[in-house]
Amino acid sequence: MTLGRIAVLVKQVPKFEAMELGPDGRLVREGLELEMNPYCRRAVAKGVELAREHGGRCTVFTVGPPAAEDTLREAVAWGADDAVLVSDPAMAGSDTLATARALAAALEHEGPYDLILTGRNSVDADTGQVPPQLAELLDLPLLSGVRQLEVRDEGWIWAHCEHDDGWVDAEARLPALLSCAERLCDPCKVPPEGRAAVDPSTIKVLTSAHLGEGPWGLAGSPTTVGEVELRGVSRTPQRLEGTVAEQVAAAVDQLEARGAVGQVPEVVDEAGTPVVIDDWDRGEPLVVVLLEPKRMRSSQALLGEAAQLAQAVGGRVVGVLESAFADLTLFGSWGADHLVLVEGSAPPADVARAVAGWAAEHQPWAVLAPGTMWGREVAGRVSAHLGAGLTGDAVEMTVQDGRLVAWKPAFGGALMAAIVATSPTQLVTVRPGILPVRSPRPVEQRPSAETLKVVNRGRVVQLRTERDDEVDDLATAQVVVGIGKAVPPERYGELDELLSVLGAELAATRKVTDLGWLPRARQLGITGRSISPRLYLAIGTSGKFNHLVGVRAAGTIVAINPDPEAPVHDASDLAITGSWDEVVPALVAELRQRGFAADATVLEAAPTA
Ligand SMILES: Cc1cc2nc3c(=O)[nH]c(=O)nc-3n(C[C@H](O)[C@H](O)[C@H](O)COP(=O)(O)OP(=O)(O)OC[C@H]3O[C@@H](n4cnc5c(N)ncnc54)[C@H](O)[C@@H]3O)c2cc1C
Repeated sequence: MTLGRIAVLVKQVPKFEAMELGPDGRLVREGLELEMNPYCRRAVAKGVELAREHGGRCTVFTVGPPAAEDTLREAVAWGADDAVLVSDPAMAGSDTLATARALAAALEHEGPYDLILTGRNSVDADTGQVPPQLAELLDLPLLSGVRQLEVRDEGWIWAHCEHDDGWVDAEARLPALLSCAERLCDPCKVPPEGRAAVDPSTIKVLTSAHLGEGPWGLAGSPTTVGEVELRGVSRTPQRLEGTVAEQVAAAVDQLEARGAVGQVPEVVDEAGTPVVIDDWDRGEPLVVVLLEPKRMRSSQALLGEAAQLAQAVGGRVVGVLESAFADLTLFGSWGADHLVLVEGSAPPADVARAVAGWAAEHQPWAVLAPGTMWGREVAGRVSAHLGAGLTGDAVEMTVQDGRLVAWKPAFGGALMAAIVATSPTQLVTVRPGILPVRSPRPVEQRPSAETLKVVNRGRVVQLRTERDDEVDDLATAQVVVGIGKAVPPERYGELDELLSVLGAELAATRKVTDLGWLPRARQLGITGRSISPRLYLAIGTSGKFNHLVGVRAAGTIVAINPDPEAPVHDASDLAITGSWDEVVPALVAELRQRGFAADATVLEAAPTA
């Protein structure tokens, strides 16, 4: 099989370390350093490698202002054959769907292509929804989070894909779109002098004059950004002094004073009461929830949230799920008034096609989906199919003037933006673990149900799926112990008592997940996850910006590192200077002495050494 033409799509993003927010909470753009999105660097490197291997051509595309040409120069200097800059003032202010439409038009103008590679997501907007929206617009299969790939015979490509908390091996029929994970290969990276040396004739510019009337930019964007709130957390780092025991005692004093350890009341909902909807015959508007198979916690949380929204707009909740997983009474107790049962199991692209057809007929007020790979693909494709606005990775939802307002963190959580869709149907994907699980309602009657046929088009074949973690465990943890490279995996057992006493979950830096010491779902940071626990203990990590951006919203951060110069000390609330293997047992002893012995069985089973 040869790959004659490969397209790679790249995005220019602000260099995070250089990012500043103005007093109005908006990004200060003047003088801001820009660079190629890290995931896109892998897509370029892989595209160039495949083109060389298969005697094909690799063309790199971006949509952006004229300055985005620098990113294309970098790709060409790395070995891409040529590049296309889609740039027009009319395209300013594009949301993800308008961007996907501009890219689709450019690819159709220059194509056809056998393979299209993109980054998994951009680190600034972090929605991951352009790839599925584009795949839908071009009617292509999509494989997301590709970590390894092989071109197979007779027009198929095989990929090992990194999903939220596990792995999927799948084959897709070419032409196909693949979104690349960070560790797919070494990144394309070229210094400024190499970029400047690129022959300008290798870069073509396309404007709306080439691509048609649009609508482009703001006019073609079914979402609008409303209020923006700065969510800065200011920390006053405190270096603790004395012996390890003295520092630990002072740290626990502070943690108790700050309420960072100890019992927390269980979250039910805002009013602390279960959601009760007594009227099952409510009509429209419909709040639809796309329920991912085998994700029970997120299904319960999303249905509870949908019930609250339905109450606010006087509507009812419709759950959409594979019939094999349908327990009508259970889903009814979680908030579903009606269930749409998808017959058979099919890849997300085919489920999306069926759901889009159903939604076009029923015109729901809102569609909520989990912010997982599955949810992003289904919701992204449905939004592209309907031309409806999609807000990705929302952490809060409210209703204002009859419209759904979805609050979305941006720039690593430094700000929160209120996004409103202008389309009749408003789509939202919700960050895993962020919604409270509301108590079930008593079910006197089962929800009504209908079936929905899905046609499996056979363009993606899932060969193997494996979960090596549970995405919600870390997302919902009140206390998280984040470990860096200094803690060797064979000694992780020495952290068990600390985890037990604090009721904490384990997380890690990229160096740790790169080495395979912990699952990738445990990585925090700019190319990992963002969490907001009450307490974060950073153990044996240098505390680089790229890591700590993932815990910016933590209530209290404690650093444990013997190097007084390590940046983690200045980025934390409490800094303990010492080696983890001395500090951790001292901390456990101190916490136990003050009555924080959480799980007696674990303590009994722990080595007594
Ligand atoms: C594009 C890009 C994206 C990235 N994305 C992420 C991301 O999402 N998440 C992420 O984490 N990183 C990310 N990184 C990498 C990040 O910049 C850092 O390299 C990484 O976080 C450092 O990992 P570390 O702290 O485990 O290791 P190191 O930086 O090697 O730090 C180890 C620390 O352990 C300390 N130490 C040594 N002995 C002990 C001891 N006995 N007890 C306690 N401490 C000890 C040392 O003093 C040192 O400070 C990214 C980088 C790039 C370029």
